[in-house]
Amino acid sequence: MVYIGCHLSSQDGFAAMGRTMSRFGGNTFAWFTRNPRSGQARPVDQDDIEALRLHAQKESFGPLVAHSSYTMNLCSAKPETRANGLEMLKQDLARMELLPGNLYNFHPGSHTGQGTLVGISQIAEALNASLWPDMHTTVLLETMAGKGSEIGGSFEELREIIDRTTLKDKVGVCFDTCHTWDAGYDLVNDLDGVLRRFDDVIGLDRLKAVHLNDSMNIRTSHKDRHEKLGHGLIGMEAMKRIVLHPALAGRPFILETPNENEGYMEEIRTVNTWIEEGNR
Ligand code: FE
Ligand code: FE
Ligand code: ZN
Repeated sequence: MVYIGCHLSSQDGFAAMGRTMSRFGGNTFAWFTRNPRSGQARPVDQDDIEALRLHAQKESFGPLVAHSSYTMNLCSAKPETRANGLEMLKQDLARMELLPGNLYNFHPGSHTGQGTLVGISQIAEALNASLWPDMHTTVLLETMAGKGSEIGGSFEELREIIDRTTLKDKVGVCFDTCHTWDAGYDLVNDLDGVLRRFDDVIGLDRLKAVHLNDSMNIRTSHKDRHEKLGHGLIGMEAMKRIVLHPALAGRPFILETPNENEGYMEEIRTVNTWIEEGNR
């Protein structure tokens, strides 16, 4: 049994996202912690947060998966971009404490010419400057397509970041199927092998969430263009095997497919049918 949901707009607040997800038939969701344009977070409304907490409890939601701003780059060559990213990370994690027990996902970053090793050490440095022992959030490094100078296009790079982080029990990984495919991992013909590889390099216990996306491009394309489930090069059969794979049981699965509400509802319905089949 897995949890299923999609990325939602946070413009009407937290409780609204919970209600929307129940209407869509899901039991988890993701949202951006900041407005993509302004980089600002919404003002905190305790009543709204409490209403979501009650709703999620009543509807047996799985862990929620916050997504950091794309503008946050912890390993930019520009010191002011790095400093800005670190500030965003600290503020986001402080706000996540209002919703204890959930997940905070971010793109490790792009080294913008500094080289992979420098990038990895700067990301770990930022984590070491912002995680604290009694925080109630698990921070997730997302598997990336390896576009441009992106860090995280291989499991080994993510492992390196975790190795250099002091509070390792606060760090996990979000497995994005489109990105992992685009990075070169064969989810279609060798899903078992890919997950075994993940287990060997990082450990499946660190895999805390999945971004369930098909890909517009061929394996090893390093492109990062999401496609609707079954409309891309990963395909419906592989998507179903991913959802039902025993190694991924219990995780929140988040759709980041190019859809409006109707499309998300339909994909959630499809995934729920698989889950029911899997239970029989
Ligand atoms: Fe992402
Ligand atoms: Fe993603
Ligand atoms: Zn992506």
